[in-house]
Amino acid sequence: MSSQTILVTGAAGFLGSHLCDTLLNEGHKVIGSDNFATGKSTNLAHLAGESRFSFLEQDITRAFDPGPVDYVFNFASPASPVDYHRLGIQTLEVGSIGTQNTLEIAKKYNAGYLHASTSECYGDPEVHPQVESYWGNVNPVGPRSVYDEAKRFSEAMVTAYHRYHGVNTHLVRIFNTYGPRLAFNDGRVISNFMIQALRGEPITIYGDGSQTRSFCYVSDLIDGIVRLSRSEEHLPVNIGNPIEWTILECANEVLSVTGSKSEIVRKPLPQDDPTRRRPDITRAKTLLGWEPKVPLREGLERSLTYFQSSNG
Ligand code: UDP
Repeated sequence: MSSQTILVTGAAGFLGSHLCDTLLNEGHKVIGSDNFATGKSTNLAHLAGESRFSFLEQDITRAFDPGPVDYVFNFASPASPVDYHRLGIQTLEVGSIGTQNTLEIAKKYNAGYLHASTSECYGDPEVHPQVESYWGNVNPVGPRSVYDEAKRFSEAMVTAYHRYHGVNTHLVRIFNTYGPRLAFNDGRVISNFMIQALRGEPITIYGDGSQTRSFCYVSDLIDGIVRLSRSEEHLPVNIGNPIEWTILECANEVLSVTGSKSEIVRKPLPQDDPTRRRPDITRAKTLLGWEPKVPLREGLERSLTYFQSSNG
């Protein structure tokens, strides 16, 4: 593929920064934008000397023009429950006004467009595993609604720009993902457990630990997303690892990988915490020839050095 100019919003985030790395490695020119609401400049520090990378400090809820681009990846949004609870209104704004502003850029420059959507569109799912044709079970006024409904609105807006304006759009529904650069302090299960285990602190299980999640290593996720961006598919595609773990099993895997003697303690289950989550990836397999390669144990091992650095 010839070299493109690509805008990545949310470039200083966990996924955005890995996406920038992959696109730069392929030889593209990348414009990364972020307003540092949750992103961190340290995630991009290694690109300081990279001439094909430029950075734009930008809140995407304000209209902006990065100049001609061939592709837009819209990854700007708070994404962890702790962050979107803290930044509720901003989360709704970035998933509505922000998404539209980035779609306008794609429309103006006739660029391709991929939006980072989420398994949270399924809410607390009654269909298991989750297929893309399932419309979801979302509480529109619960604590998670600021994120879930923003992402669902984004999907509607992205689809409308495809339907009404012919923009070449793509929607990825991302399931739980982990790896280096996952923020230390955003309360996610893998970062919490890894850091607690490495520090010898108690592992905090919310509820009885029987709720499930399916964890995808970051390199697998980015591979799936890049493939989707180059496909002809405009409807949502799940990208995630279909191997499902209870949170208790996940805690034991972390203890085993880290060799930690931390005890397990129970904390209250947050309201509307989905009881189970696992992607059906038939569409990703069929349409993109994609499936994840990295098992949880290997991914945790690959992330060890990074989480060890959280000790300073
Ligand atoms: N969780 C937990 N202990 C923690 C952090 C999270 O038991 O220290 C649970 C949380 O209640 C949820 C799951 O782990 O059931 C995944 O939480 P996370 O915040 O990573 O993301 P979510 O999938 O809920 O968006």
